Amino acid sequence: MLQWKPADKKAAVCFTIDDIHPSKSTDYYEAGGDLDKGRLGLVKWLLDRHPELKVTLFTTANWREISPVPTRKFLASLPGVRDKFFLAKRYQKDTMNLERHPEFVEFLNSMKNTEIGFHGLYHVHKGLKIPVEFQNQTKEEFREILKEMQRIFNKSGIEHVKGICPPGWNAPNALLDELIKENFDFIASARDIFTPISRDARTNMSGIKGASLIRPEAIKENKLIHFPTNFQANSKVERAKEIINNSGLLSIKAHIVKSVFGYIAIDGVDELYMNYLDSLLTNLKNEYGDSLWFTSMGEISDYIKKNN
Ligand SMILES: [Zn+2]
Repeated sequence: MLQWKPADKKAAVCFTIDDIHPSKSTDYYEAGGDLDKGRLGLVKWLLDRHPELKVTLFTTANWREISPVPTRKFLASLPGVRDKFFLAKRYQKDTMNLERHPEFVEFLNSMKNTEIGFHGLYHVHKGLKIPVEFQNQTKEEFREILKEMQRIFNKSGIEHVKGICPPGWNAPNALLDELIKENFDFIASARDIFTPISRDARTNMSGIKGASLIRPEAIKENKLIHFPTNFQANSKVERAKEIINNSGLLSIKAHIVKSVFGYIAIDGVDELYMNYLDSLLTNLKNEYGDSLWFTSMGEISDYIKKNN
């Protein structure tokens, strides 16, 4: 079995946030661009309250999504045709390119206990599932996307790990092959916040199905590490404890954007969710103390590479 945590640790805790990009409250919605004064300020509050906590910010290199749902309703009603069009307006290309937002990059680089991972190139796709960037592309197209995404990260100076959470969770097999060719360490694809917790529970909700629900796992002939997401804002404390009691990885998810055109993200970063995580973490630390490993997906990947 994969050796993924130190022997003296009963279980592990990691925290990841999706959709980080430079949008400000003066744009359509805030996604980190307001720095300390916005949602990242709330994340920093939580990190200050829990100095052992680590966070992975899954960041999009050149965000273009404005609406996650189709607004071109007529086009969207035409089967076949709709798959060939973007069904909502997008940001002009490079508006949110990280290379153009040095202050934002500097702010992310300065955050303590924070690592940056990839969350797609544009975060858009033609057809009905707008945020699901990786769908039916050819392997050559996937390669192009991955290369451009990495080029922007490197050029912008953002410090990052070689891991990705695919927008909308979807990770086709051809994408996994290209990630391996690009030397990625890990992918966080499966989110399952409903399947009951047990040692052998498998993911069965969004993204990769059939992966371990409570542990990182080597996939694709051990060439890539897969991380599940198994906890979010409306999950109960008991679920967290069941994961820990089964010696698993409590993998907590949030999204940086709380509301888009009236669509409210349950796990969007706001005072309420950060307060909930504050009390959850306090509760877990009281009960489990030093037997918990507060870590990150990048750190676990490094550990796995060294110890297997
Ligand atoms: Zn996303």
